Amino acid sequence: MIARLYPLMSGWGKTGGMDLDTTTTRPAGSPDAPALNPDRDRDPALNCDPALNSDCDPAVNRDRETNAASASEPPRMSRDSTNFKRLHRRLAREMGKAIADYSMIQEGDRIMVCLSGGKDSYTLLTLLTELQRRAPVRFEIIAMNLDQKQPGFPEHVLPAYLDDQGVDYRIIEADTYAIVKEKIPADRVACSLCSRLRRGVIYRTATELGATKIALGHHRDDMVETLFLNLFHAAKLKGMPPKLLTNDRRHVVIRPLAYCAEADIARFARAKDYPIIPCNLCGTQPQAQRAQIKAMLQDWERLHPGRLDAIFHAMQDIRPSQLGDTSLFDFAALESQREDFDPGEPADAPGTTFEHFSSTRALFAFD
Ligand code: SF4
Repeated sequence: MIARLYPLMSGWGKTGGMDLDTTTTRPAGSPDAPALNPDRDRDPALNCDPALNSDCDPAVNRDRETNAASASEPPRMSRDSTNFKRLHRRLAREMGKAIADYSMIQEGDRIMVCLSGGKDSYTLLTLLTELQRRAPVRFEIIAMNLDQKQPGFPEHVLPAYLDDQGVDYRIIEADTYAIVKEKIPADRVACSLCSRLRRGVIYRTATELGATKIALGHHRDDMVETLFLNLFHAAKLKGMPPKLLTNDRRHVVIRPLAYCAEADIARFARAKDYPIIPCNLCGTQPQAQRAQIKAMLQDWERLHPGRLDAIFHAMQDIRPSQLGDTSLFDFAALESQREDFDPGEPADAPGTTFEHFSSTRALFAFD
């Protein structure tokens, strides 16, 4: 069933004019926008913290790598090649499964897709618009980009791309950059305040647009990294969920790429040749913690392929009784659940987890 996109609200569309307290909207961009400044290029994977940040593509720098020629890169896949078609199908299948598993999209949804200009959000928009054309449920898509007024932001790029794709969109201008620069010393990482400000604008825009869902481009690797960031630096077993109700209970955030590996998205985006916008225009300092987690995970994956997948699957298979959180499991009531021992009953067979000492030793020996 083909769903069509209509501007459903007055002033809502490609050249809409919504007035917000600290934001303005503008029509499709000017071709005179300043060129990107290569001197600013740093790894935004070090900068953007998706645990704090609902919009930045934390790996957008690799987007740029996937679009720039380099001797170390694999050749760009042709979009006619079997490999690309297979990759495309895999990403679409994984996204469809995540959407189904978490009931992310319902009939009549109006989905605001946050487009940062990085490979992840471009890929998300492509796959969602393709899904929209063939899905049995009707839903609308509106792309939204937040122009934070970072120096050198090429404001013409996204409107030109979205016009070309025929996707309805809204560009929101909010000078969060100036606020962050004023409040945060130059030698401090600004991501926390920046992402709080951005989140506020995104939520407010979703309300203005009547969006029933906010779609973000975070993928499997972002979610695993966030788990370890929280584990190591916040002492919490907490990650980034595929679907989330915001604290004020007014918005549902979805992450349809939750099952997609970043490497696949990078290869897809490179083949699609998206007009990538660097995420490092803010000039914030590198965030060492995220870089360390990323490097650690990449090392693990290199030494033990499949480990990231295993960790991600573990995030979907939580056993509160095998952890220690008394708010999730009633350890105090265990005695009352004890049954009389029957000597004729066979002992529990060792499972595939590591609750048995010998298995635990084997695990560490393996490492
Ligand atoms: S300060 Fe820069 S890197 Fe950090 S969240 Fe904001 S835009 Fe992204």
